[in-house]
Amino acid sequence: MEFNESVKEIIKQTHDVKSFRFKRPSGFDYKAGQYMFITLNIQGEKTRKPFTISSSPTEKAHLEFTKKLTGHDFSNALDALSVGDSLGIDGPYGEMTFEGEYDKIALLSGGIGITPMMSICRYCTDLKLGTQVTLVSSNKTETDIVFRDELEKMQVQNKNLKVVHTLTRAGDDWKGSRERISANLITTQIPDYKERMFYLCGPPRMMEAIEPLMKELGIPEERFKKEIFSGYQN
Ligand SMILES: Cc1cc2nc3c(=O)[nH]c(=O)nc-3n(C[C@H](O)[C@H](O)[C@H](O)COP(=O)(O)OP(=O)(O)OC[C@H]3O[C@@H](n4cnc5c(N)ncnc54)[C@H](O)[C@@H]3O)c2cc1C
Repeated sequence: MEFNESVKEIIKQTHDVKSFRFKRPSGFDYKAGQYMFITLNIQGEKTRKPFTISSSPTEKAHLEFTKKLTGHDFSNALDALSVGDSLGIDGPYGEMTFEGEYDKIALLSGGIGITPMMSICRYCTDLKLGTQVTLVSSNKTETDIVFRDELEKMQVQNKNLKVVHTLTRAGDDWKGSRERISANLITTQIPDYKERMFYLCGPPRMMEAIEPLMKELGIPEERFKKEIFSGYQN
């Protein structure tokens, strides 16, 4: 479905991440984990890029995507948007979806790769699904953790949701994990990992590190789904 919609709300999530919300048009159906293309006019040229829908299909009033602002052209054009400005939207696309079909899932994300995981967590929590969800989210520092407060609240609401933050460049006062996502971290935090369906998402460099872990842990291809956020070159 292709349509134009004006920005309804802009939410500053961290120092370099913003969420953009739009009215959800009737008939726009999507699955948790899918993405859409956003078209912007940059210096007179139409430019189109894919973004995961970070809202949940259960949220009927709005559609949301969440962007890491890199200081490059597309980011700058998004950062300059105000409420009321119009964008082109085309979607939904993507195969890394969750519709309640697994009883136990593990979500592994690097950095901004949290966006499809957020949609899945919101979906499970809103529908009060019995699905056991463990999210392992890796970031550099505490200030880079997107959706931290909302995930905290969701864990209180949804006893089947466990969130593990791991930080690779944490400050001295960080009490949590400091490991990269590794076989050790997965076996420790997700002891029943052999019974779970895995979802993997992040920028290419992070995915290069995360994907081989499936082999290391003996998880066959049919037991994981992935989305690589190509477009980030750093
Ligand atoms: C399926 C899918 C889902 C995605 N979902 C998300 C999401 O939910 N959130 C998200 O933030 N991203 C997501 N992405 C990535 C997103 O589409 C963009 O590619 C990414 O955010 C890079 O945006 P940018 O603003 O840096 O883009 P651009 O401005 O096009 O820059 C892209 C890269 O090109 C290089 N570059 C650009 N301009 C210059 C210049 N002048 N000089 C030197 N180098 C330059 C830089 O390395 C830069 O990182 C997704 C990608 C895919 C494929």
